[in-house]
Amino acid sequence: MSNLTLSRRVSTLKPSITVALNSRAKALKASGVDILGFAAGEPDFDTPQPIKDAAIKAMLDGQTKYTPTLGDMKTRECIANKLVNENGIAGLTGEHIAIGVGGKHVLYSSIQCLFDFPEDGEEPWEMLLPTPAWVSYRPICELSGGVVREINAGPESDFRITAQQLKDTITPRSRLLILNSPSNPCGTMYSEADLRALAQVIHEAREIAPNLVVLSDEIYEKIVYGETKHFSIGSVPEIADRVITLNGMSKAFAMTGWRIGYVAMPGEFGKQLIKGIGTLQGQMTTNITSFNFAAIREALTNPEVAQTVDMMRRAFASRAKLIMNRLSEIPGVTCPTPTGAFYVFPDVSALFGKTSAGGTKIIDSPSLSEAMLDEAHIAFVPGDDFGGISGNHLRISFACSDEQINAGMDRFKSFVEGLS
Ligand code: PMP
Ligand code: GLU
Repeated sequence: MSNLTLSRRVSTLKPSITVALNSRAKALKASGVDILGFAAGEPDFDTPQPIKDAAIKAMLDGQTKYTPTLGDMKTRECIANKLVNENGIAGLTGEHIAIGVGGKHVLYSSIQCLFDFPEDGEEPWEMLLPTPAWVSYRPICELSGGVVREINAGPESDFRITAQQLKDTITPRSRLLILNSPSNPCGTMYSEADLRALAQVIHEAREIAPNLVVLSDEIYEKIVYGETKHFSIGSVPEIADRVITLNGMSKAFAMTGWRIGYVAMPGEFGKQLIKGIGTLQGQMTTNITSFNFAAIREALTNPEVAQTVDMMRRAFASRAKLIMNRLSEIPGVTCPTPTGAFYVFPDVSALFGKTSAGGTKIIDSPSLSEAMLDEAHIAFVPGDDFGGISGNHLRISFACSDEQINAGMDRFKSFVEGLS
């Protein structure tokens, strides 16, 4: 027997349930089981052709060598222009942009640059996390020595926290507030008025929490289909120098496998942060794949691509309607209407305490998800790891065809009808 062990940091790290469940569903499908997967946080569409062509051309043209660590300046400037012109975030130049290997990577790097492990007698830095929240924010914060303070919201407010809740949570050790609108896992959004109210609280907290910064994860910004328009909190002048805006190519352009994400922060501290990310990346991954820079520029500037993005948006809008109709037929399952991203997050707690047709006692969201995978062959993500009240919920991704949504909801309905 070997007495070798992994670091405590890694051996206690919680695996990502979204990644794990999606991989499991895909493996079961590959082994011949008729699984209908609703776990994947990725568009089912292919990457638009002009983006692929741009990458192929760049590769053929010989763009196959190391590039500057944070990306070539032309591409960083192209991203800065997008954020200034589309999102109204003033004062950004290429120097304020870092490009990394996916939104997850630049999130990790940003947090590494902001958090420290506490030294003797010091209180740890806090991440303020409105929940339900994507499963990766907490572990990445904890890996960096921070502690998470959840701010819980529920379906009655479309999973939005209030300005008062934020105000009540801020302390002198507050380092980072995470905002994610449209939301994974909720599919709901903050309005401009909501975000302005939160911005006002951040502005007024300058004295109490001088180190507080906001990270606004806007990776689903292009996938919105309700009355609420996407709004970037980094465009509010009073707090603009305290806002990191995170985005990437994965969701808007159906490019999850390409692994491209970026962060932006204006001002002097913004430049420092981006430089810090460069130092970190220089010891980790160096640049992203060299021929992807041309693809980023193509995605952000080609009007034909913008039309395809809008086509995908409309498809998600119609699927959101379909899945809400189908869920309303299932007794004991309730959920706010999604207006963004491609998730619904229904409350399924009315099913707890029952027994499935296959004899499984449903005690919580994981046992429900497990029984549905085994017996109904549908893969939904259990809520627990999304924090706060999420244990009463399941996450269903509707980034799939109408046929699959209908077939999956048929199975879900008969599974629930078979409970006793
Ligand atoms: N933020 C949120 C809210 C997400 O759902 C995802 C999906 N993985 C990401 C960031 C990161 O995506 P990626 O690493 O593919 O850019
Ligand atoms: N963000 C997606 C999801 O939530 C992809 C998997 C992941 O990175 O978590 O399913």
